[in-house]
Amino acid sequence: MAKSTQGTNTVCTHVGTLEDKEYKGAASPLYMSSSYAFEDVDVKRYPRYFNTPNQEALSKKMAALEHTEAAMIFGSGMAAISTALMAFLQAGDHIVFQQTLYGGTYNFAVTQLEKYGISYSFTEGWEVADFEAVIASNTKLIYVETPSNPLLTITDLKGVAELASQRGILTMIDNTFASPINQTPADFGIDIILHSATKYMGGHSDICAGVVACSQEHMETVFQTAICFGGSLSDYTVWLLERSVKTMGLRVKAQNENALKMATYLKGNEDVENVYYPGLSTHPGHSLAKSQMKGFGGMLSFELNPEIDVSLFFKNLELIKPSMSLAGVESTMISPTKTSHALMSPEDRQKQGIKDSLIRFSLGIEEIEDLVHDIEQAISKTKSITVPV
Ligand code: PLP
Repeated sequence: MAKSTQGTNTVCTHVGTLEDKEYKGAASPLYMSSSYAFEDVDVKRYPRYFNTPNQEALSKKMAALEHTEAAMIFGSGMAAISTALMAFLQAGDHIVFQQTLYGGTYNFAVTQLEKYGISYSFTEGWEVADFEAVIASNTKLIYVETPSNPLLTITDLKGVAELASQRGILTMIDNTFASPINQTPADFGIDIILHSATKYMGGHSDICAGVVACSQEHMETVFQTAICFGGSLSDYTVWLLERSVKTMGLRVKAQNENALKMATYLKGNEDVENVYYPGLSTHPGHSLAKSQMKGFGGMLSFELNPEIDVSLFFKNLELIKPSMSLAGVESTMISPTKTSHALMSPEDRQKQGIKDSLIRFSLGIEEIEDLVHDIEQAISKTKSITVPV
């Protein structure tokens, strides 16, 4: 699709809005029907066919944001990811996964693919050469996630896309952590873009949804599998998600700013051992991130010094919520070992560099001073309990 000449916030706000012809309201009308006419109509509509008026309208907005020809809305990020994978893979195929992936995707790979006769390899690292090293003669797909969950590693989108296209291999990316505000992988040659729209697109910790964005041709393939798996989203939630996306540009900009300020603060805090944020010049993927991202994102990870008890630190937080999921307007922290990556074995976590003490921090839109104050008081309380004086 030709890139929209409109600004991102204009696209977020206006593209795909359904016209309220009757009352001229500013918001898209909500069509909840699960039964539409089949006589004298060009399109036969049905929720599980992903083509109700609200589904189609939001798909247009998502495609415009991702610079793709088409998009489809799903009931969760995992519904989008699993459907897209199964749409392009068949028995005898091989897929290359980047190491350090969202735990649910990792779990899908290791528990489901073999049942269908699909083999897979994980890369050893994040360089293009690491992907090349595990490509086999039957490799059909390369799957990347950048920045990755939870260590914020950066993968070279253009490099991987070129490597794959030279060999007739398709590329898929989980673009959840960046959001289309910060990164549009189609511009670098990535074929299929996936989202947990539960995160930055929803943005208020009250929607579970997913998105696939790609060319019209690839969407035909996704569609044929999607109607069999049936992972569509209810129109009411589609409508809510459309409303949420209108402010995504503003929210993500504030979250980017907070994350950079927070990463800089944590880096200088003597109670913090490591900080992982691609916006820091010390991050190994910083220049690459700068070349392919418009903002460094609202997610960071860090480790407190080993003598500070992480569970107690979470209990002592007063403003920041130690709660699951991410990307809401409220700041949250989690322990990946206990949540997103709990299904991974301790050995695999260790191999990927995910320590038990790692804290994943999703920055919200609060004032940075309030967030820093909360961290300082929680560290101080925790130390007063755990460190004998
Ligand atoms: N991808 C990433 C990077 C995620 O963080 C998550 C969920 O945390 C998912 C995919 C799965 O999305 P959902 O929970 O909406 O199925």
